[in-house]
Amino acid sequence: MSIEEKHAHGKATNLVHGGTKRSQWGEVSEAIFLTQGFVYDTAEAAEARFLKAGEDEFIYARYGNPTVAMFEERMALLEGAEDGFACASGMAAVSGALTSMLRAGDHVVSAKALFGSCLYVLEEVLTRYGVEVTFVDGEDLSQWQAALRPDTKAVFFESMSNPTLQLVDIAGVADLAHKVGATVIVDNVFSTPIYSKAIAQGADLVVYSTTKHVDGQGRCLGGVILGTREHIRGVVEPYMKHTGGSMSPFNAWVMLKGLETLKLRVRAQTEGAVALAEALVDHPKVSRMIYPGHASHPQNGLAQQQLGAGGTLIAFEVEGGKEAAFRMLNALQVVIISNNLGDAKSIATHPATTTHQRLKPEQRAALGIGDGMIRLSVGIEDPEDLVRDVLQALDAV
Ligand SMILES: *Cc1c(COP(=O)(O)O)cnc(C)c1O
Repeated sequence: MSIEEKHAHGKATNLVHGGTKRSQWGEVSEAIFLTQGFVYDTAEAAEARFLKAGEDEFIYARYGNPTVAMFEERMALLEGAEDGFACASGMAAVSGALTSMLRAGDHVVSAKALFGSCLYVLEEVLTRYGVEVTFVDGEDLSQWQAALRPDTKAVFFESMSNPTLQLVDIAGVADLAHKVGATVIVDNVFSTPIYSKAIAQGADLVVYSTTKHVDGQGRCLGGVILGTREHIRGVVEPYMKHTGGSMSPFNAWVMLKGLETLKLRVRAQTEGAVALAEALVDHPKVSRMIYPGHASHPQNGLAQQQLGAGGTLIAFEVEGGKEAAFRMLNALQVVIISNNLGDAKSIATHPATTTHQRLKPEQRAALGIGDGMIRLSVGIEDPEDLVRDVLQALDAV
Protein backbone atom coordinates (compact mmCIF):
# COMPACT_ATOMS: atom_id res chain seq x y z
CA MET A 1 0.00 0.00 0.00
CA SER A 2 1.38 3.43 -0.91
CA ILE A 3 1.72 6.25 1.65
CA GLU A 4 -1.07 8.14 -0.16
CA GLU A 5 -3.40 5.16 0.19
CA LYS A 6 -2.54 4.80 3.87
CA HIS A 7 -3.20 8.51 4.45
CA ALA A 8 -6.59 8.08 2.79
CA HIS A 9 -7.75 5.94 5.73
CA GLY A 10 -9.36 7.47 8.79
CA LYS A 11 -7.61 7.76 12.14
CA ALA A 12 -9.38 4.75 13.69
CA THR A 13 -8.36 2.48 10.80
CA ASN A 14 -4.75 3.63 10.86
CA LEU A 15 -4.62 3.21 14.65
CA VAL A 16 -5.32 -0.50 14.23
CA HIS A 17 -3.48 -1.30 10.97
CA GLY A 18 -1.07 1.55 10.23
CA GLY A 19 2.60 0.69 9.90
CA THR A 20 2.18 -3.04 10.60
CA LYS A 21 5.14 -5.16 9.42
CA ARG A 22 4.54 -8.90 9.63
CA SER A 23 7.31 -11.44 9.97
CA GLN A 24 7.36 -14.73 8.03
CA TRP A 25 5.03 -16.18 10.72
CA GLY A 26 2.13 -13.90 9.82
CA GLU A 27 1.37 -12.95 13.43
CA VAL A 28 -1.88 -11.01 14.12
CA SER A 29 -0.50 -8.93 16.99
CA GLU A 30 2.57 -6.82 16.23
CA ALA A 31 5.78 -8.63 17.20
CA ILE A 32 8.23 -7.24 19.75
CA PHE A 33 11.63 -7.38 18.10
CA LEU A 34 13.51 -7.13 21.37
CA THR A 35 16.90 -7.00 19.71
CA GLN A 36 19.51 -4.26 19.64
CA GLY A 37 21.47 -5.77 16.76
CA PHE A 38 20.91 -7.40 13.36
CA VAL A 39 22.74 -10.19 11.52
CA TYR A 40 24.17 -9.82 8.01
CA ASP A 41 24.50 -12.79 5.64
CA THR A 42 27.89 -11.63 4.44
CA ALA A 43 30.57 -9.05 5.17
CA GLU A 44 29.60 -7.37 1.90
CA ALA A 45 26.00 -7.10 3.11
CA ALA A 46 27.16 -5.42 6.34
CA GLU A 47 29.30 -2.99 4.33
CA ALA A 48 26.40 -2.17 2.01
CA ARG A 49 23.99 -1.57 4.86
CA PHE A 50 26.39 0.78 6.66
CA LEU A 51 26.85 2.63 3.38
CA LYS A 52 23.12 3.08 3.00
CA ALA A 53 20.41 1.23 4.90
CA GLY A 54 17.37 0.62 2.71
CA GLU A 55 13.72 0.48 3.71
CA ASP A 56 13.22 -2.18 6.40
CA GLU A 57 16.97 -2.60 6.88
CA PHE A 58 18.25 -2.06 10.39
CA ILE A 59 21.71 -1.69 11.91
CA TYR A 60 21.38 -1.03 15.63
CA ALA A 61 18.36 -0.29 17.84
CA ARG A 62 19.56 3.22 18.70
CA TYR A 63 19.27 3.92 14.93
CA GLY A 64 16.04 1.99 14.36
CA ASN A 65 14.24 -1.30 15.03
CA PRO A 66 11.27 -3.02 13.33
CA THR A 67 8.88 -2.60 16.28
CA VAL A 68 9.93 1.02 16.75
CA ALA A 69 9.53 1.64 13.00
CA MET A 70 5.95 0.28 13.14
CA PHE A 71 5.20 2.72 15.96
CA GLU A 72 6.78 5.65 14.08
CA GLU A 73 4.79 4.97 10.95
CA ARG A 74 1.51 4.52 12.84
CA MET A 75 2.06 7.82 14.70
CA ALA A 76 2.94 9.64 11.44
CA LEU A 77 -0.22 8.33 9.76
CA LEU A 78 -2.31 9.36 12.77
CA GLU A 79 -0.91 12.89 12.77
CA GLY A 80 -0.90 13.29 9.00
CA ALA A 81 2.87 13.77 9.02
CA GLU A 82 5.31 12.33 6.49
CA ASP A 83 7.55 10.70 9.08
CA GLY A 84 8.41 10.39 12.76
CA PHE A 85 11.22 9.52 15.15
CA ALA A 86 10.36 7.67 18.37
CA CYS A 87 12.11 8.84 21.53
CA ALA A 88 12.78 7.43 25.00
CA SER A 89 10.42 9.92 26.67
CA GLY A 90 8.44 13.04 25.94
CA MET A 91 11.37 15.11 27.15
CA ALA A 92 13.81 13.30 24.83
CA ALA A 93 11.42 14.33 22.04
CA VAL A 94 11.10 17.97 23.16
CA SER A 95 14.83 18.46 23.75
CA GLY A 96 15.72 16.50 20.60
CA ALA A 97 13.35 18.51 18.40
CA LEU A 98 14.97 21.73 19.63
CA THR A 99 18.66 20.83 19.97
CA SER A 100 18.81 18.86 16.71
CA MET A 101 18.10 22.02 14.71
CA LEU A 102 19.57 24.87 16.83
CA ARG A 103 23.09 26.23 17.14
CA ALA A 104 24.81 28.99 19.14
CA GLY A 105 23.62 32.44 18.08
CA ASP A 106 20.11 31.29 17.11
CA HIS A 107 16.99 32.92 18.53
CA VAL A 108 13.89 31.06 19.77
CA VAL A 109 10.51 32.41 20.82
CA SER A 110 8.56 30.29 23.30
CA ALA A 111 5.28 30.51 25.16
CA LYS A 112 5.95 30.94 28.87
CA ALA A 113 3.24 28.59 30.18
CA LEU A 114 5.25 25.35 29.91
CA PHE A 115 5.59 21.94 31.54
CA GLY A 116 8.43 22.31 34.10
CA SER A 117 10.96 20.17 32.22
CA CYS A 118 10.22 21.99 28.94
CA LEU A 119 10.87 25.28 30.74
CA TYR A 120 14.19 23.87 32.01
CA VAL A 121 15.30 22.93 28.47
CA LEU A 122 14.43 26.36 27.06
CA GLU A 123 15.57 28.47 30.00
CA GLU A 124 18.62 26.57 31.25
CA VAL A 125 19.91 24.21 28.56
CA LEU A 126 19.52 26.11 25.27
CA THR A 127 20.81 29.37 26.74
CA ARG A 128 23.89 27.57 28.12
CA TYR A 129 24.78 26.70 24.53
CA GLY A 130 24.35 30.26 23.29
CA VAL A 131 20.76 30.15 22.04
CA GLU A 132 18.73 33.23 22.95
CA VAL A 133 15.15 32.57 24.10
CA THR A 134 12.34 35.14 24.33
CA PHE A 135 9.23 34.14 26.33
CA VAL A 136 5.77 35.44 25.44
CA ASP A 137 2.17 35.00 26.55
CA GLY A 138 1.21 32.17 24.21
CA GLU A 139 -2.41 33.21 23.67
CA ASP A 140 -1.47 36.81 22.71
CA LEU A 141 -0.61 36.92 18.98
CA SER A 142 0.68 40.50 19.25
CA GLN A 143 3.41 39.30 21.66
CA TRP A 144 4.53 36.61 19.20
CA GLN A 145 4.55 39.23 16.44
CA ALA A 146 6.68 41.58 18.56
CA ALA A 147 9.16 38.89 19.64
CA LEU A 148 9.83 37.34 16.21
CA ARG A 149 13.02 38.52 14.49
CA PRO A 150 14.74 37.79 11.19
CA ASP A 151 17.17 35.51 13.09
CA THR A 152 14.39 33.56 14.89
CA LYS A 153 15.01 29.93 13.99
CA ALA A 154 12.18 28.26 15.92
CA VAL A 155 9.07 28.91 17.95
CA PHE A 156 7.95 26.50 20.65
CA PHE A 157 4.71 26.18 22.56
CA GLU A 158 2.32 23.74 24.19
CA SER A 159 -0.88 24.00 22.17
CA MET A 160 -2.91 23.68 25.40
CA SER A 161 -1.16 24.72 28.59
CA ASN A 162 -0.79 22.79 31.83
CA PRO A 163 -2.71 23.13 34.12
CA THR A 164 -4.74 26.20 33.13
CA LEU A 165 -5.80 24.84 29.70
CA GLN A 166 -5.09 27.99 27.71
CA LEU A 167 -4.88 27.45 23.97
CA VAL A 168 -2.31 28.79 21.57
CA ASP A 169 -3.68 29.54 18.10
CA ILE A 170 -1.47 27.23 16.01
CA ALA A 171 -2.47 28.69 12.64
CA GLY A 172 -2.07 32.27 13.93
CA VAL A 173 1.41 31.71 15.38
CA ALA A 174 2.50 29.64 12.35
CA ASP A 175 1.52 32.44 9.95
CA LEU A 176 3.66 34.93 11.87
CA ALA A 177 6.58 32.53 12.40
CA HIS A 178 6.71 31.43 8.76
CA LYS A 179 7.04 35.08 7.65
CA VAL A 180 10.52 35.11 9.26
CA GLY A 181 11.25 31.52 8.21
CA ALA A 182 11.08 30.07 11.73
CA THR A 183 10.28 26.39 12.33
CA VAL A 184 7.07 25.90 14.34
CA ILE A 185 7.46 23.22 17.02
CA VAL A 186 4.27 22.27 18.87
CA ASP A 187 4.15 20.19 22.05
CA ASN A 188 0.69 18.77 21.48
CA VAL A 189 0.19 16.47 24.49
CA PHE A 190 -2.95 18.08 25.94
CA SER A 191 -4.59 18.32 22.49
CA THR A 192 -4.04 14.57 21.88
CA PRO A 193 -3.26 13.15 18.41
CA ILE A 194 -6.95 12.25 18.05
CA TYR A 195 -8.12 15.89 17.94
CA SER A 196 -4.92 17.34 16.48
CA LYS A 197 -4.86 18.86 13.01
CA ALA A 198 -1.64 20.69 13.86
CA ILE A 199 0.27 19.91 10.65
CA ALA A 200 -2.59 21.19 8.48
CA GLN A 201 -2.77 24.26 10.74
CA GLY A 202 0.89 25.11 10.09
CA ALA A 203 3.00 23.20 12.61
CA ASP A 204 6.33 22.01 11.15
CA LEU A 205 7.17 19.62 13.97
CA VAL A 206 4.64 18.06 16.33
CA VAL A 207 5.95 16.50 19.53
CA TYR A 208 4.13 14.14 21.89
CA SER A 209 4.92 12.61 25.21
CA THR A 210 3.41 9.21 24.39
CA THR A 211 3.65 8.45 28.12
CA LYS A 212 0.29 10.22 28.32
CA HIS A 213 -2.74 9.30 26.16
CA VAL A 214 -0.89 7.01 23.71
CA ASP A 215 0.16 4.49 26.35
CA GLY A 216 -2.75 5.70 28.41
CA GLN A 217 -2.45 2.84 30.87
CA GLY A 218 0.34 4.08 33.09
CA ARG A 219 3.11 1.73 31.95
CA CYS A 220 5.91 3.18 29.81
CA LEU A 221 7.66 6.43 29.05
CA GLY A 222 7.86 7.44 25.40
CA GLY A 223 7.86 10.32 22.97
CA VAL A 224 7.77 11.04 19.27
CA ILE A 225 8.82 13.86 16.91
CA LEU A 226 6.68 14.14 13.74
CA GLY A 227 7.34 16.23 10.63
CA THR A 228 8.48 16.14 7.03
CA ARG A 229 10.59 13.18 5.88
CA GLU A 230 13.39 15.58 4.98
CA HIS A 231 13.51 17.12 8.46
CA ILE A 232 12.97 13.89 10.43
CA ARG A 233 15.55 11.84 8.51
CA GLY A 234 17.91 14.74 7.70
CA VAL A 235 17.99 16.67 10.99
CA VAL A 236 16.27 14.76 13.80
CA GLU A 237 17.45 11.19 13.15
CA PRO A 238 21.22 11.89 12.94
CA TYR A 239 21.03 13.84 16.21
CA MET A 240 18.84 11.35 18.08
CA LYS A 241 20.60 8.20 16.94
CA HIS A 242 23.99 9.52 17.97
CA THR A 243 22.96 11.18 21.25
CA GLY A 244 21.00 8.20 22.56
CA GLY A 245 17.40 9.27 23.15
CA SER A 246 15.82 6.51 21.04
CA MET A 247 12.77 4.52 22.15
CA SER A 248 13.16 0.96 23.39
CA PRO A 249 11.49 -1.74 21.22
CA PHE A 250 9.57 -2.98 24.25
CA ASN A 251 8.12 0.46 24.90
CA ALA A 252 7.31 0.86 21.20
CA TRP A 253 5.31 -2.37 21.37
CA VAL A 254 3.38 -1.16 24.44
CA MET A 255 2.68 2.11 22.61
CA LEU A 256 1.51 0.26 19.47
CA LYS A 257 -1.01 -1.69 21.54
CA GLY A 258 -2.05 1.56 23.24
CA LEU A 259 -2.67 3.20 19.87
CA GLU A 260 -5.22 0.52 18.90
CA THR A 261 -7.65 1.82 21.51
CA LEU A 262 -6.57 5.48 21.59
CA LYS A 263 -9.58 6.89 19.80
CA LEU A 264 -12.05 4.94 21.95
CA ARG A 265 -10.31 6.04 25.12
CA VAL A 266 -9.95 9.72 24.20
CA ARG A 267 -13.62 9.88 23.14
CA ALA A 268 -14.73 8.31 26.44
CA GLN A 269 -12.42 10.59 28.42
CA THR A 270 -13.84 13.63 26.64
CA GLU A 271 -17.39 12.49 27.46
CA GLY A 272 -16.43 12.32 31.14
CA ALA A 273 -14.77 15.74 30.99
CA VAL A 274 -17.90 17.29 29.46
CA ALA A 275 -20.06 15.78 32.22
CA LEU A 276 -17.71 16.99 34.97
CA ALA A 277 -17.47 20.49 33.50
CA GLU A 278 -21.25 20.73 33.48
CA ALA A 279 -21.47 19.49 37.08
CA LEU A 280 -18.81 21.90 38.37
CA VAL A 281 -19.34 25.13 36.45
CA ASP A 282 -21.95 26.55 38.85
CA HIS A 283 -20.99 24.55 41.96
CA PRO A 284 -21.04 26.78 45.07
CA LYS A 285 -17.68 25.46 46.33
CA VAL A 286 -15.93 25.94 42.99
CA SER A 287 -14.83 29.51 42.28
CA ARG A 288 -13.51 28.81 38.78
CA MET A 289 -13.99 25.90 36.37
CA ILE A 290 -11.77 25.66 33.28
CA TYR A 291 -12.68 23.40 30.35
CA PRO A 292 -11.96 24.47 26.75
CA GLY A 293 -14.98 22.44 25.58
CA HIS A 294 -17.39 24.45 27.75
CA ALA A 295 -19.08 27.66 26.59
CA SER A 296 -17.70 29.44 29.70
CA HIS A 297 -14.08 29.06 28.47
CA PRO A 298 -12.84 32.30 26.88
CA GLN A 299 -11.27 30.31 24.02
CA ASN A 300 -14.18 27.90 23.47
CA GLY A 301 -14.47 29.09 19.85
CA LEU A 302 -10.77 28.49 19.19
CA ALA A 303 -11.00 25.04 20.82
CA GLN A 304 -13.88 24.08 18.53
CA GLN A 305 -12.05 25.39 15.48
CA GLN A 306 -8.58 24.02 16.31
CA LEU A 307 -9.56 20.67 17.86
CA GLY A 308 -13.30 20.21 17.41
CA ALA A 309 -13.48 19.21 21.10
CA GLY A 310 -12.45 20.33 24.57
CA GLY A 311 -10.03 17.53 25.37
CA THR A 312 -9.70 15.18 28.31
CA LEU A 313 -8.60 17.49 31.13
CA ILE A 314 -10.44 19.96 33.29
CA ALA A 315 -9.15 22.26 36.02
CA PHE A 316 -11.04 23.95 38.83
CA GLU A 317 -10.38 26.12 41.83
CA VAL A 318 -11.90 24.93 45.11
CA GLU A 319 -13.07 27.78 47.35
CA GLY A 320 -10.82 27.84 50.47
CA GLY A 321 -7.30 27.38 49.08
CA LYS A 322 -4.92 24.51 49.76
CA GLU A 323 -6.73 23.19 52.83
CA ALA A 324 -10.04 22.89 50.99
CA ALA A 325 -8.36 21.35 47.92
CA PHE A 326 -6.57 18.74 50.07
CA ARG A 327 -9.80 17.89 51.90
CA MET A 328 -11.51 17.36 48.56
CA LEU A 329 -8.63 15.24 47.18
CA ASN A 330 -8.51 13.07 50.29
CA ALA A 331 -12.25 12.39 50.05
CA LEU A 332 -12.09 11.05 46.48
CA GLN A 333 -13.00 7.37 46.20
CA VAL A 334 -12.81 6.59 42.47
CA VAL A 335 -10.43 9.28 41.21
CA ILE A 336 -6.84 8.63 42.28
CA ILE A 337 -4.26 11.20 43.38
CA SER A 338 -1.25 11.15 41.06
CA ASN A 339 0.55 13.36 38.56
CA ASN A 340 0.34 11.57 35.21
CA LEU A 341 -2.37 12.45 32.72
CA GLY A 342 -4.19 10.90 29.78
CA ASP A 343 -4.58 7.64 31.70
CA ALA A 344 -7.59 5.30 31.60
CA LYS A 345 -7.86 5.98 35.35
CA SER A 346 -9.06 9.43 36.38
CA ILE A 347 -6.24 11.29 38.12
CA ALA A 348 -6.47 14.38 40.33
CA THR A 349 -3.40 16.59 40.83
CA HIS A 350 -2.79 19.61 43.07
CA PRO A 351 -0.42 21.60 40.83
CA ALA A 352 0.62 24.20 43.43
CA THR A 353 2.20 21.56 45.71
CA THR A 354 3.35 19.00 43.12
CA THR A 355 3.95 19.66 39.42
CA HIS A 356 4.35 23.43 39.92
CA GLN A 357 5.76 23.33 43.47
CA ARG A 358 9.14 24.73 42.41
CA LEU A 359 7.70 27.93 40.95
CA LYS A 360 7.69 31.00 43.18
CA PRO A 361 4.20 31.99 44.45
CA GLU A 362 4.31 35.09 42.20
CA GLN A 363 5.07 32.91 39.16
CA ARG A 364 2.17 30.59 40.01
CA ALA A 365 -0.13 33.57 40.46
CA ALA A 366 0.97 34.98 37.09
CA LEU A 367 0.11 31.66 35.46
CA GLY A 368 -3.28 31.59 37.22
CA ILE A 369 -2.44 28.57 39.40
CA GLY A 370 -4.21 29.16 42.70
CA ASP A 371 -3.68 27.21 45.95
CA GLY A 372 -7.16 25.72 45.56
CA MET A 373 -6.63 24.59 41.98
CA ILE A 374 -7.10 20.93 41.06
CA ARG A 375 -6.25 19.46 37.67
CA LEU A 376 -8.34 16.48 36.73
CA SER A 377 -7.23 14.14 33.97
CA VAL A 378 -10.45 12.37 33.15
CA GLY A 379 -10.31 8.60 32.64
CA ILE A 380 -12.66 6.16 30.98
CA GLU A 381 -14.81 5.30 34.00
CA ASP A 382 -18.58 5.81 33.77
CA PRO A 383 -19.13 9.59 33.70
CA GLU A 384 -21.92 9.26 36.31
CA ASP A 385 -19.49 7.63 38.75
CA LEU A 386 -16.93 10.38 38.22
CA VAL A 387 -19.48 13.16 38.72
CA ARG A 388 -20.84 11.43 41.84
CA ASP A 389 -17.31 10.97 43.21
CA VAL A 390 -16.21 14.55 42.66
CA LEU A 391 -19.47 15.99 44.05
CA GLN A 392 -19.30 13.84 47.20
CA ALA A 393 -15.65 14.87 47.65
CA LEU A 394 -16.64 18.53 47.40
CA ASP A 395 -19.20 17.88 50.13
CA ALA A 396 -16.24 17.12 52.42
CA VAL A 397 -14.91 20.66 51.96
C1 LIG B 1 4.50 14.93 30.27
C2 LIG B 1 4.82 16.03 29.35
C3 LIG B 1 6.09 16.14 28.77
C4 LIG B 1 7.22 15.19 29.11
O1 LIG B 1 6.93 13.89 28.81
P1 LIG B 1 7.71 12.63 29.51
O2 LIG B 1 7.21 11.48 28.74
O3 LIG B 1 7.29 12.64 30.94
O4 LIG B 1 9.16 12.89 29.35
C5 LIG B 1 6.31 17.19 27.90
N1 LIG B 1 5.35 18.07 27.59
C6 LIG B 1 4.11 17.99 28.14
C7 LIG B 1 3.08 19.00 27.76
C8 LIG B 1 3.80 16.97 29.01
O5 LIG B 1 2.58 16.90 29.56
